[in-house]
Amino acid sequence: MHAEVFRAWIVASARIIDEQRDHLTQLDAAIGDADHGINLARGFSAVRSALESAAPALPGSVLTVTGSTLISKVGGASGPLYGVAFRRAGKALGDVTDVDLPGLAAALEAALAGVQRLGAAREGDKTMVDALAPAIAVFSKAVAEGASQADALSRLAEAAQAGALATISMQALKGRASYLGPRSVGHEDPGAASTALILGALRDVALAGQ
Ligand code: ADP
Ligand code: MG
Repeated sequence: MHAEVFRAWIVASARIIDEQRDHLTQLDAAIGDADHGINLARGFSAVRSALESAAPALPGSVLTVTGSTLISKVGGASGPLYGVAFRRAGKALGDVTDVDLPGLAAALEAALAGVQRLGAAREGDKTMVDALAPAIAVFSKAVAEGASQADALSRLAEAAQAGALATISMQALKGRASYLGPRSVGHEDPGAASTALILGALRDVALAGQ
């Protein structure tokens, strides 16, 4: 996958986040402060402008610009967390021009490690980690088993979506939602929902370009 695919991934993520902005904000209204969709839509809109003006030529630099812009433009917990995720992934890709599946798996694992180092959330804490971690585990396993790109990315996106839905029955132990204690149960975590959208966009773009 060349830089163009990564650029298309980020643009597709911006589009779906914008389309789902109100839905994400409603999820955050239930267990947070009703700003997640607004935060992310603003951030990804700034990312689109940054990618247009910086025109990064490498997959890694597309992700690094994305992460740096999210850190500077998105308030709240999710901006720094997504920012670190994209920056770590970009750094892991280095200066490779054509990313293969093992390279992408390593970058996604670096993203997850960055999120967990910064936010200290574990699986089951009802955060974006509950979408990210199972998706990356399934993807890395599929890649190690020699799955096709289409198959591995489909499994990635499906596991992220299943992980996001699994947060409904969890009690939040990290972030703003944790203030609600047991009352956080019964609602999907907004950050897990947005992670599933972003990983779904990766699948859609990579498969469309095959
Ligand atoms: P804020 O909570 O500051 O208003 P957002 O509403 O933009 O920020 O994002 C909330 C999301 O951030 C949560 O749904 C959760 O997925 C994620 N989040 C919050 N704290 C953490 C953390 N420590 N680790 C991982 N993700 C977290
Ligand atoms: Mg919020």
